[in-house]
Amino acid sequence: MIIKNIGSLCGILPEGVARKCGAEMDKVECLENAWLKVDDGRIIDFGMMDSCPAPEEKHCDGDGCHHDGGCQGGGGHCGGGGCHGGGGCHGGGCHNHDGEEVVDAAGGFVLPAFCDSHSHIVYAGSREGEFLDKLRGLSYEEIAARGGGILNSADRLHECPEEELYAQSLDRVQEMMSFGSGAIEIKSGYGLSTEDELKMLRVIRRIKASVPAQIKATFLGAHAVPRGMSRDEYVDKIISEMLPLVGEEELADYVDVFCDKGFFTSEDTARILEAAAKYGLRPKIHANELAVSGGVQVGVQHDALSVDHLERTTDAEIEALKGSATMPVMLPGSSFFLGLPYGRARDFISAGLPLALASDYNPGSSPSGDMRFVMALGCIKMRMTPAEAFNACTINGAYAMGVEKEVGSITRGKRANLIITWPLPSLTQIVYQYRKPFIRWILL
Ligand SMILES: [Zn+2]
Repeated sequence: MIIKNIGSLCGILPEGVARKCGAEMDKVECLENAWLKVDDGRIIDFGMMDSCPAPEEKHCDGDGCHHDGGCQGGGGHCGGGGCHGGGGCHGGGCHNHDGEEVVDAAGGFVLPAFCDSHSHIVYAGSREGEFLDKLRGLSYEEIAARGGGILNSADRLHECPEEELYAQSLDRVQEMMSFGSGAIEIKSGYGLSTEDELKMLRVIRRIKASVPAQIKATFLGAHAVPRGMSRDEYVDKIISEMLPLVGEEELADYVDVFCDKGFFTSEDTARILEAAAKYGLRPKIHANELAVSGGVQVGVQHDALSVDHLERTTDAEIEALKGSATMPVMLPGSSFFLGLPYGRARDFISAGLPLALASDYNPGSSPSGDMRFVMALGCIKMRMTPAEAFNACTINGAYAMGVEKEVGSITRGKRANLIITWPLPSLTQIVYQYRKPFIRWILL
């Protein structure tokens, strides 16, 4: 498949670039008036239109050639679920002499699909009732004290049959893909019992096998302390009962702990991370959302792949991250929804650190998986430049979920997980007119 007449091919990186740090984040390498060739779901080559291997269609199949851009999927997902598995867009494509499908981007941009490195989309039902409580003035802590919050999700998940949980969760993943996400990390953590945590992880495994997006699974048994147990008892149970089963069945890629005020301490976190390391589970930590929790430091000490949230950080957290392999991840969607402070993106970037942004899609604090909105919040609320926000949602997001060798940039050999946009004046347009539809097709 060849995509031609690309207005701007954005996010080009040479092989081997794993993430962008500090001032590098403000650069997006682009090629104007470009083509890109895809074979077997991979980016094979790209270049300027004057070197295009298929500048004109040689003949057209069936009902002819759609010069206005191939697939007439009506935007969003191509052909109502097509465009998957490298098979490309079949809604009216043209073929050249070599039988290659030629898609005319007609001036639209081609971008790597978003990489959403932090989500909780396996859950049952919704928490609209709590949303109404919140509108009436109750705080997140007050709602949790009334039996809402994570424990409310755990009750619903416990009652939900696995098949139904899978169907609901798959629906959300499809929604996220339609918003342009081509890689999604999904956490457990609404089970809080061995049986239900495993149920969640099995659902994630099924999703992994059934969608074209890259999926990574994270075991977050330590999301909250269940009713009727002390914190110590529950941490013991995670270590002695849950982790061995998760490890044996290879149900997770990573381990997570909610290291924050009212949840788990940095000592609990260290115990869980040490136990998880025996099963090869690298940490991705919830840290510093509600208080300066010590979560960043404990994460860095245990070589965490990422430390996430970071609404409340001091200069000590910035210092701790310098020189580490740990990606800081901020979640502006939950700051927006809960009215929390936004992370100090400018200070992190000025200190030369990398930064990723993710949706935190979950029923309580961020009921949206739209990464373009996350990008816009990064700019509007955290004063990131559009280029920084773009890198934070693509290559750095890929790094934060360990898929940077496969996705997150336009690089020969990487998966062709791509967004093809309507014609745009610039990349800035995506975050400036942040509600104007911009996705024409998604190739996953
Ligand atoms: Zn989270």
